[in-house]
Amino acid sequence: MNTEQTRTAFTDFFRERGHRITPGAPLPRPPGDPVLFTTSGMHPLTPYLEGRPHPLGDRLTGVQRCLRTTDLEEVGDATHLTVFEMLGSWSLGDYGMDRTLRLGHELLTGVYGVHPGLLHATVFGGDDQLGPDTESLDTWRDLGVPVELTREDNWWSNGPTGPCGPDSEIFVWTGVGPPRNTPQSDDRWVEVWNHVHMRYRRLDDNTLRPLPRHSIDTGMGLERLAMVLRGDCSVFESDLFEPWTRALPALWDLDGARLRIAADHLRSAVVVAGDGVTPSGTGRGYVLRRLLRRVLTLLRQDDRAGEGTDGRPRRTLADLPGGPIEHTLVHFGLPCPPRRADEVRDLLVDEERRFTGMLDRGRRVLSRRRFAGPLGEEEYHYLHDTHGLPRELVDLLRGVG
Ligand code: ATP
Ligand code: MG
Ligand code: MG
Ligand code: MG
Repeated sequence: MNTEQTRTAFTDFFRERGHRITPGAPLPRPPGDPVLFTTSGMHPLTPYLEGRPHPLGDRLTGVQRCLRTTDLEEVGDATHLTVFEMLGSWSLGDYGMDRTLRLGHELLTGVYGVHPGLLHATVFGGDDQLGPDTESLDTWRDLGVPVELTREDNWWSNGPTGPCGPDSEIFVWTGVGPPRNTPQSDDRWVEVWNHVHMRYRRLDDNTLRPLPRHSIDTGMGLERLAMVLRGDCSVFESDLFEPWTRALPALWDLDGARLRIAADHLRSAVVVAGDGVTPSGTGRGYVLRRLLRRVLTLLRQDDRAGEGTDGRPRRTLADLPGGPIEHTLVHFGLPCPPRRADEVRDLLVDEERRFTGMLDRGRRVLSRRRFAGPLGEEEYHYLHDTHGLPRELVDLLRGVG
């Protein structure tokens, strides 16, 4: 199965079981949402999980592109991306935890062919206020899947307030040989799917109010699912990333974590730009600018030929072939307005030009005598606050780090 078939198999499975397809929302959240970007499949469905009737009914499925700036520092490992796709299924006051976990088990083992012995689950073990989620515990035991109870890791919320509840996460063993240890102690167990029992709503005063209607919200990372189904070592090995992991090393000396970060950040930036965001100094635009500056800094560090005598890099984003950009936009269904591939490309190149201008100014500032020796915290702060030069850039310009 390629990733497209994996994605379709998910929505087909739920459609055949009475779920209607809800179209995904764009990455930028509309005004009024306290968060800048869609961070999970349930995010656009918040009002319905809080009780409003959904126009498509009480069983839904779909695919949602998500962006998590909170995961930026983890990107480069085997399983975390900045922009990723979440396969989702929802029961709005219809079936409960037992049914959703059984559906999950059936899809993973029966449709995707995961060996049942390679599964492990975690379940909410209770806290000071609430008891353990015995319903999920009983279901997993009945299905013969080993379970671990946790205190903190199995409580879902999408922010300080709003719908929340206990969840159950499903892990697949990716190590060599038979499964060992537990997900809490061994990261060869890769979390693929989370099933949440939306039973509460957290209010502004931090209290929990039971929801009148209990719902189910599930989310499974498409890239992670593809990784475990293919037996890959990371999410970067599938057809989704192939155009990027082929094009980038041909231009820059990149491998390992640096290649993964470059591929993630450029691909994520293309999706954010394709969704209509323009780099700027605030809000969504600043997230896009930060992503691009992180990757540009990394590319400058790895510039194959080093900088020319004029201080210019030999390679720029203008050297990037159009293929990976086009491929990404088409995959996310973004080849149409708000932005076309050539416009996205121009935007990347413009932003790089701005970055180069900033480096030029940075070089002039750093040539002052004050910055000749080793820099202390005070200098770094001054360079950041007065000249907008982050530490990594200062180090890059000074040839250290
Ligand atoms: P992790 O513990 O691995 O960070 P999570 O518990 O934060 O994952 P959830 O919020 O439960 O993830 O999201 C549901 C699913 O979405 C996860 O089980 C995983 O498959 C996928 N997912 C979450 N974060 C990422 C990410 N940064 N990149 C790719 N897939 C992700
Ligand atoms: Mg996480
Ligand atoms: Mg987790
Ligand atoms: Mg989770």
